[in-house]
Amino acid sequence: MKISETIRPFIHLLFPPVCRACGKLLSGDPSAILCARCASQDVSLKLPVCDLCGLPVPAPSDPHSSPSSSHGCIPFKPAFDCIRSAVAYENPVRELIHQFKFQGSRRVRPYLQSLFADGADRLLGNFHLDAIVPVPLHWTRHFSREFNQADILAQSLSGHSGIPVLADAVRRCKRTYPQSRLGGKWRGRGLEAAFCPGTDAVSGLDLLLVDDVMTTGQTISACAAALRQAGAHHIVGYTLARRI
Ligand SMILES: [Zn+2]
Ligand SMILES: [Zn+2]
Repeated sequence: MKISETIRPFIHLLFPPVCRACGKLLSGDPSAILCARCASQDVSLKLPVCDLCGLPVPAPSDPHSSPSSSHGCIPFKPAFDCIRSAVAYENPVRELIHQFKFQGSRRVRPYLQSLFADGADRLLGNFHLDAIVPVPLHWTRHFSREFNQADILAQSLSGHSGIPVLADAVRRCKRTYPQSRLGGKWRGRGLEAAFCPGTDAVSGLDLLLVDDVMTTGQTISACAAALRQAGAHHIVGYTLARRI
């Protein structure tokens, strides 16, 4: 028996496990991170989805016609070919992503990684993919946070799918203000030239460009533009969650 297993009951007495999303006391499975009510919230984005933005669309009456991509979902011309997201950015996932990203919580990682892998199985089966590329953090932010959540998601998806990660295909070359803190009219400003090609060759490759959350799509598009500049062939964006 490991020491951690010996002392776990005492730790639980001192710090009873609570639901990571709503704070309710948990009983039963000691490895659970969510209460039954939060675990039953289904925030996955279901098929059929828009070809371009990956948001669910009504099922077409003709099963052979593809879902429309003309509903004005992305109000600019993106540098990626299309984008998909595993879940909506709503609770309980929103709270778990916050703990993963800003508090570095390791407890919530396996749950988020499995949502990411399940979404990939459901949504990415029709795409040919040579490599996975994480959206990079600017090094100053990486330094303060010590990890890049997109790297962690990319590595776990690589373990699940067998598709390799190119960790230095693209770099952030100019500090940008977090998009989530900017008002609508400022979003996207300052992203031009925010990314530049790295040392990993991507010429002719079909890439999966991954990040944790899609807000407007402009960050991922700016990153895709640098990969295009380096000769990438087809670029599919894929995020864990999508603000709706
Ligand atoms: Zn809960
Ligand atoms: Zn759309």
